[in-house]
Amino acid sequence: MKNMIAKIASVALTAGIAQTSFAIPPAPMPTPDEQAIDAATKDMFAWDIIQGLTTEVGPRLAGTEAEARARRWAAFKLPAMGFANVRIEPYKMQTWVRGEETAEVLQPYPQKLIVTALGNSGSTGKAAIQGEVVYFANLQALQAAPVGSVKGKIVFVSHNMKPAQDGSGYGPFGQVRRIGPNIAAKMGATAIIIRSIGTDNHRVPHTGNTNFEKSVTPIPAAALSIPDADNLVRMFATNAPVQIKLILTPKFVGETESGNVIAEVPGNNPKLPPIIIACHLDSWDLGTGAIDDAAGCGIIAAAAKHLRDTGPRLRTIRILWAGAEEVGGFGGKAYAEAHKTEPHGLAMESDFGADRVWRVDFKLPESAKALQTKIADRFAYLGIQTGKAEAGGGTDVEPIIEAQHLSVIDLQQDGTHYFDLHHTADDTLDKIDLKQLQQNVTAWTVVLMNVANYEGDLSLAPKP
Ligand SMILES: [Zn+2]
Repeated sequence: MKNMIAKIASVALTAGIAQTSFAIPPAPMPTPDEQAIDAATKDMFAWDIIQGLTTEVGPRLAGTEAEARARRWAAFKLPAMGFANVRIEPYKMQTWVRGEETAEVLQPYPQKLIVTALGNSGSTGKAAIQGEVVYFANLQALQAAPVGSVKGKIVFVSHNMKPAQDGSGYGPFGQVRRIGPNIAAKMGATAIIIRSIGTDNHRVPHTGNTNFEKSVTPIPAAALSIPDADNLVRMFATNAPVQIKLILTPKFVGETESGNVIAEVPGNNPKLPPIIIACHLDSWDLGTGAIDDAAGCGIIAAAAKHLRDTGPRLRTIRILWAGAEEVGGFGGKAYAEAHKTEPHGLAMESDFGADRVWRVDFKLPESAKALQTKIADRFAYLGIQTGKAEAGGGTDVEPIIEAQHLSVIDLQQDGTHYFDLHHTADDTLDKIDLKQLQQNVTAWTVVLMNVANYEGDLSLAPKP
């Protein structure tokens, strides 16, 4: 190019034309928003955070010493990235920890089973429980079982969850895990094993929380790896009675400390309520919590960092790394309680892995239509479609959304493979694709730069 310009210039000179008429105007300076997007597309901050949390902290079960280490790690990391007002907001929670977990088929075809205890599971004691297993193809079959039919027996419940881009199977099929154990306990079962709430075919069970009513004594409750569950179903198909032996020795350790980590990118106009963006710092204890939810913490902090580094916007962006989500959403509840008197402009959350954003859903006031269109138009260029569903946030922001009836934007990530790894020992850093992670950071940066500079009112009409 330079050579060509020189040549043209020399031709011009020989032709006697004034040289100045060939001056090239300087390229316009990129705007702060353009700079932020450019940096986001090459982002390494998100990866760095996920790598740090999974390597330097590892599994981070809420309420344990591991989660406390994650908080300390975060309280060091976030100021080092340049965020302001970094603080830990502690709260108390009831904490459950895993113990030993083994299972085997005693008859008809003796062999080991791969199991893991569900959060809040009761204990079999060291002595093990053994007995007859009663099989139910799904939760509805268990619910329809005659009274007394499982008394003194071990319940096994399967299901038919399939992968879906929007992860929509998790709501209905996850009920097997969430309420199955309580139902089985109320029916007098001695224990329950479920087919893991997952979509893989690996011999890794998926843990996750279950809940017992206050009046119900928790029974031992475990998830079988999906190949093990399939194997058990085949045994039932032979009509032979199935007996298993199960050892689960988790325990409740009482009240311990957990805590939320907060950081901010201060805005220029303190009159405009801040944007709250959240993820959760805790993870299940089997893997290192890379996709759930170090990824979310990396994505939101990286996007906020790109805004911070390209100059102040109007609204403050507040980062919430919630200390406890998996075991009952204690972090989100504690945040809402601690900040209920402060106004918030809009809430967002990232807690669905690290695969690409494919859809955006909004819940904004009618008056913010132009803001919505601006984001949607920009997203069209990134191949992200606009959904018709109303945005809802997620567990870490739901309590504050509920309490203040907040506006929400959801960046929906591709969930086709999310439940292959979810809550398993396989939730590790190597499963994350850098390009897709960077696409997430870019999409988040686009939203944040638009909402952080939005001067209009983001509050919704009061609920009817
Ligand atoms: Zn999560």
